[in-house]
Amino acid sequence: MTAQVIDGKKIAAEIRKNLAERVAANEDSPVLAVVLVGENEASKIYVRNKKKAAAEVGIICEVFEFAETIGENALLASIEELNENPHVNGIIVQLPLPKQINPLKVLSCINPQKDVDGFSPYNIGLLASKEDEAVVAATPKGILSLLKSTGVDLCGKHAVIIGRSNIVGRPVSLLLLNNDCTVTITHSKTVGLAEIVRQADVLVAACGCPKMVKKDWIKPGAIIIDVGINRLEDGKLCGDVDFEKVSEVASYITPVPGGVGPMTVAMLLENTLEAAQKQKNSNKHHHCHCGKCHHN
Ligand code: NDP
Repeated sequence: MTAQVIDGKKIAAEIRKNLAERVAANEDSPVLAVVLVGENEASKIYVRNKKKAAAEVGIICEVFEFAETIGENALLASIEELNENPHVNGIIVQLPLPKQINPLKVLSCINPQKDVDGFSPYNIGLLASKEDEAVVAATPKGILSLLKSTGVDLCGKHAVIIGRSNIVGRPVSLLLLNNDCTVTITHSKTVGLAEIVRQADVLVAACGCPKMVKKDWIKPGAIIIDVGINRLEDGKLCGDVDFEKVSEVASYITPVPGGVGPMTVAMLLENTLEAAQKQKNSNKHHHCHCGKCHHN
């Protein structure tokens, strides 16, 4: 068997095209506020890419930059302002934050309706309790979308996840559980990893170990989602899966680059548009008694 390659780049481009049409059909452009603290070079590149991708679909992306030395209270106050600002639909805080700032406090401060990264404890809690209204983090949401693109029914499938991070492993596990998979979560302390992976109908590799997953770990016909982004000595990127060899036994596989990566930004933009639409609808139904509003 030779696996079919799941073309994340193409699927993400279709999603962005569809988003652009939906944004154009609305009166107001959604506004995404990006909070960037300090001088982390990688963060600056990610933010630049998000801004460019947002502009392409008609979403306004405003970057709020703060000095590396900003105090926690000052940062929390700025996020409160964005929470209160009716023109801002989505708020993301680019991680990592400088060491004087507790990221959990910052993520907890974001209004859950504006938390388009889905990293606030409130949205994680909704996802963990199988609530449909949870805002789901972009990478896990992109992974589910790639799995669904195969047309394979996920119900009852054994999904094995390698990695338990807050941004990928954990939320993707919950999402697949909510989609009726039987889920096994593995990590660096797991004993007998290869044996467990051999039972997977669906494998999500998110550990950051170049080409760790070998061909003889794979159940014939399994679907492989490779989240890993690793840079080799020759400068090339590779995933956590030995793509060439594993392709010989899997039914579907995502490449690196061109698989999960392009989906992540597309899903962030989709979350922003959906947040804007929800906020608009709830304002429509909201009868304010403040005496100042005219729309009641
Ligand atoms: P983290 O480093 O936060 O987490 C890695 C996880 O993998 C941990 O749970 C760790 O276990 C586990 N792990 C590490 N080594 C092994 C091993 N040898 N065997 C089994 N498990 C292991 O990484 P992230 O979750 O943030 O990212 C994972 C990968 O995905 C990275 O390559 C990253 O670059 C990529 N990524 C790609 C994105 C995309 O858009 N495509 C988005 C986000 C990440 P333990 O908990 O025990 O330490």
